[in-house]
Amino acid sequence: MSTTSPEYSPTAPFKLEAHFASALPAMAAPWHGEDAPDPQLVILNEELAHRLGLDPQWLRSEAGIQFLVGLNPQPLTKAVAQAYSGHQFGQFVASLGDGRALLLGEARSADGVLRDIHLKGSGRTPFSRGADGRSILGPVLREYLVSEAMHSLGVPTTRALAVLTTGRKIQRGTVSPGAILVRVATSHIRVGSFQYSNIAGGVDLSQDLANYAIIRNFPELAAGLDNPTPELYVSLFRAILRRQATTVGKWTRLGFVHGALNTDNTLISGETIDYGPCAFMERYRGDAKFSSIDNYSRYKFDNQPVILGWNMTRLVETLIPLLGDTPDEGMTAAQEALSEFDSLCEQAIAQEFAAALGIDPAESEVIAHFRQLLYQYNPDITTLLRCLTDNTAPPAGFEFFAHTWKTLDPDIEAMRTVNPIFIPRNHLVEAALSQAVEGDFNAFHELLAAVCDPFNPDAGSAELHGPSPDGFEEDYMTFCGT
Ligand code: AMP
Ligand code: MG
Repeated sequence: MSTTSPEYSPTAPFKLEAHFASALPAMAAPWHGEDAPDPQLVILNEELAHRLGLDPQWLRSEAGIQFLVGLNPQPLTKAVAQAYSGHQFGQFVASLGDGRALLLGEARSADGVLRDIHLKGSGRTPFSRGADGRSILGPVLREYLVSEAMHSLGVPTTRALAVLTTGRKIQRGTVSPGAILVRVATSHIRVGSFQYSNIAGGVDLSQDLANYAIIRNFPELAAGLDNPTPELYVSLFRAILRRQATTVGKWTRLGFVHGALNTDNTLISGETIDYGPCAFMERYRGDAKFSSIDNYSRYKFDNQPVILGWNMTRLVETLIPLLGDTPDEGMTAAQEALSEFDSLCEQAIAQEFAAALGIDPAESEVIAHFRQLLYQYNPDITTLLRCLTDNTAPPAGFEFFAHTWKTLDPDIEAMRTVNPIFIPRNHLVEAALSQAVEGDFNAFHELLAAVCDPFNPDAGSAELHGPSPDGFEEDYMTFCGT
């Protein structure tokens, strides 16, 4: 597929900023993408490109494609690989970092917010350790599809600007096309970024990172940067906790299992990141886990608020000297804030279910009863909530609930805007990806169109509505796919 338009100017009509690279050079290794033998643009998210001020027509040009693989230095000021640490399945790894990723720079979008333009699969970096720095097409397309679906569902998430193939063949058990995902986020500051700053530069570097996080993700606190006090950093930590709670509230209502909530995969912005072993469950149950490597079910569905609390504890450990005038004061402030996390999550979850049921969050008994029935009858929650929305017969076990719930006069119109018809169902995603990797993108685009307009019954065909065939979910397993 030829996507270049040679007549278009080689000079980019925009310039990225190098905000992170200038503010935190100790956490940014200047780098560039690896040469790609035959780079091709496979998907471009034109709507997002426009919002970011990145001319889509130029992105399709030869120079634009070189930019999107991290090789055209001209619209960049300084691409970098970011340093970070991380607890992976509970084990601390001090030096992780962008082993196959690059922060090209930041673009100022129409809403005035600076957003990272980030590549995944762009080749080896100083953080690659023994690995090849590359990604393959299937997992890259999965991340594109699921992250854009999550965005359309109103879940805080990184987004996807483009997918490119590199022209390389990559051996991962079988041979797959090499690919790059161009990812967009309000920042890539992870819990693991603070773990790194703490080790590499102590409290001074952690403070620089915290200040930077305020500028990028919590501008409502920026006035405090003129005269930083412990209260400022306590407010920052509390704001980060609220973001995590909001996000996990949405995952819980949608039945989303992230699958790899390592501290390096938890952004302080609350945006969901890294769609590797994730899945939407079709039988609502607390022990749902799909990841092939999550042997102890650390990241099972019910554990997500617990694990985020654990990750937040790892985060606050790096901030204690900033949270009080003495270590004791810092520790007390940290514990106070952390002790509220469970109830923040509970409130966020209850609020999500209230919205899904079109009722007041104060109806706590109805909401608790509904959640108890979910665990008792394990329905497909997407279908169930649409049955309630559309006034069709609810699945087994919910008849009596539906009857009493209706007496609360639920706001059906509001329910239509939060309860999706289309989600990236596992069997559909797998079928679309395996066809796409063979060169047939029809199913992928059909599914993408539906999940990006999830509340509109006309956005996709009836085959994209319901859960997978019987037996599919029991055996369904996801892979990091690196
Ligand atoms: P992830 O599982 O994608 O969250 O990645 C965890 C860590 O492993 C990060 O530091 C990645 O950069 C690194 N990593 C994963 N796959 C590769 C690869 N193929 N080459 C180099 N680094 C990788
Ligand atoms: Mg990661």
